[in-house]
This record gives sequence, structure tokens and C-alpha cells, in this order.
Amino acid sequence: MNRIYLDNNSTTPIDPRVAAAMEPYLHGLFGNPSNIHSFGRECAEGMAAAREQVAAFLGAGPDEIFFTGGGSESDNWAIKGTASVRAGRGKHVVCSSIEHSAVLASCRYLESLGFRATFLPVDGYGLVDPETVKRALTGETALVSVMLANNEIGTIEPVAEIARICREAGVLSHTDAVAAAGKIRVDVNELGVDLLTISGHKLQGPKGVGALYIRKGTEIHPFVHGGHQESGLRGGTENVIGIAGLGKACEILAAEWQQNAEHERRLRDRLEHGIVVRIPEVRVDGHPTRRVPNVCHLSVGYVEGEALLMNLDMEGVAVASGSACSTGSAEPSPTMKAIGVPPLFSNSPVRLSLGPGNTESEIDYTIDVFERVVTRLRAISPIWKRRS
Ligand SMILES: *Cc1c(COP(=O)(O)O)cnc(C)c1O
Repeated sequence: MNRIYLDNNSTTPIDPRVAAAMEPYLHGLFGNPSNIHSFGRECAEGMAAAREQVAAFLGAGPDEIFFTGGGSESDNWAIKGTASVRAGRGKHVVCSSIEHSAVLASCRYLESLGFRATFLPVDGYGLVDPETVKRALTGETALVSVMLANNEIGTIEPVAEIARICREAGVLSHTDAVAAAGKIRVDVNELGVDLLTISGHKLQGPKGVGALYIRKGTEIHPFVHGGHQESGLRGGTENVIGIAGLGKACEILAAEWQQNAEHERRLRDRLEHGIVVRIPEVRVDGHPTRRVPNVCHLSVGYVEGEALLMNLDMEGVAVASGSACSTGSAEPSPTMKAIGVPPLFSNSPVRLSLGPGNTESEIDYTIDVFERVVTRLRAISPIWKRRS
């Protein structure tokens, strides 16, 4: 059976050019980049090149890019590392209520240590109102973290405006750009944030590697205490293989993200239109215009999201229900709760997230399968039959 992958916000296939860039480090180049001999130096050079590639992609300086073990680690570091360094001046952090669990759980952890955390509400599209940020700030606030694009519904947040409000108040700003990088323009100076997270495996790179942008001069505690690696802020021998892959993935996207975004938008709109026109009682979630081009988040009335996912999977189409990170719990995700989906739709969210490799024929097949599966599931649903 031909399988179709529409879950690119969970993870992405590795671009063959990225695999080729990692290959030398799996075979010949094995040195420890901290060593002065040639074995070490050639790996240190590879890492320096990758740092330049990531920096160029984000409009940052290479000395502002710190390699981490992925998006979750970058989020943890940004929040805990700045909150703890500023704790003497106040113990308050702010984030939106639809952040990735890495941000939400880091803020809750800080609460357990005696910090206060404010979880900002969002509107029905998932948008944060910058005015609510302004009102949340106090003299005690260390950091505000609002994601650039939501990974579930794709809504793009007004991060530049939020960062400006923070700057004026002397508060640090962080944005989780994992779901935005490669889909929309991400430039740290246009955004004006102090810290920004990306993850390798969400942008056609390898898993277990990411980066945290830290604006020059930003006070932050180390995340891993240990050696001098990453300017003494993250000890431990570096993931050279993964870093080479992350660098290449960023270099490719710096050149290709716009054409990818156009491709994904065209296919996403075709998919969404095809489904909405052919199947009644389907709600498109997220903002109608402020939305990343690769995400189609649907709430399908009278159908259970998990059942829909499993039936699509049996037909070879891979999608996500709710948030991949909360899969396994029957609870609606924090994002779905925060945007306030009507009860009829609240059990039925599915996310179809596209990547540069998807094709029009895959989309057309998916629309057919989606219609077939929803029709089948509704045929055995007593509430569908009883609806007025
Ligand atoms: C996937 C994801 C993360 C976590 O990244 P990992 O590299 O898997 O730890 C963080 N934030 C967002 C928005 C994500 O989509």
C-alpha cells in the first residue's frame, strides 16, 4: 500500500541532502571537537560551519547560536535559565495557554519552586492579544514566552509586538519557533526577541538536536553544568552528527523555504477546500489568515478524532489527532480547551500537516479517503442519525 505522510508537525523525513551532510561524521570524522589535534579540529570546523548555517537562517550572529538536544531542551533552557538568573529581582514568568508542553511544564516547574506564572488566554482563533501581555507584566517579571506559530492549529502569534512591549518594560522575551521555522520568515532582529527555539527534526533534519538563539548580552544560567562546550553554557561532548544535519537543514531552508511554503499552501488549501466542500459539519480551526501554510486542523462533527485517525491510517494516510504530545490521553489538548471549541466538535480534532515532499495526487487521494472514512463512521453513529 502507498502510504501518505501528513503529520509533518510531529516529525519530518530527513532531506537526503541533510543525510549526506551527516554521513562523513558517521564514518571518517569521529573526533572530539574539544581536542586540538587534527581529528578534533576537523569536527570543530564542521560544527562552526553548522553554527554559521543556523545563524544565517535566523538572521543571528554565530556566537548567538547554542546547540541543544532539541526543541524541548531549548524551551526548558530559555525559561529556567533566564528565570533563575533574574530570580533575585522577581519571580514571575508569563506564557500563553497554548504553548508546547515543554514551555507549559517549565513554567509549572518554576511555580513549584515559588515563582508565579501567568498563562495568557487566547481568542477563538488561538491569538494572544498583546494588551494582555502588557497587563500581565509587573516589576517582578523575568520573561515572556509566546510561540511564533502554534503547532496544533497553526495560528501565528504577534511576537514582534509582544517583544517590543517586553523590551520597553525591561523584560526578556522568548519565542518557540519550532512550528514556524521553514514555513514563514523567521528573523530574530525583525522579531526583536531575546531567545528563540528551533528543532532539527521539525525541519527535515535529525531528531535529538536543536538550537537556542540567545541574543548577545542576555543573562542566562547554563543548562548543563559541565565542560566548556557551548561557551560553558551547555556542557557535554557535542552531538556533532546531529549538528551537521541541523546546519545543512537550515542552509537548505534559507534558500528554499519560500518555495516550500507556496507549495504547501497550495496543497493545504486544496485539501481543506476539498474536505469542507464534500463533507458537512467540518470546522476549520486556527486563524483564517494568520496561519502557517502547512497546517490543516479540522474538527469533524459527530466523529471521534481517534477513530478517524485509525481509519485513515488503515487506508495509508497518517495524520495526528489533537496534539501528538498528548496522544494517549482522552482529554482535549490545552490548545483546544483554550480556543473553546463547541462540545459537538471537541472530541474530534485532527491535524493534517504538510511538508515539502507532499504531492497533489496525495492530497486528492486523501480527500477521497477522508470522505469515505467520515461517511462510514457517521453511518454507525447514533447521534449523527438523531441530529435534526
Ligand atoms: C515538536 C515541538 C517542540 C519539541 O521539539 P523536540 O525537538 O521534539 O523536543 C517544541 N515546540 C513545538 C512548537 C513543537 O512543535
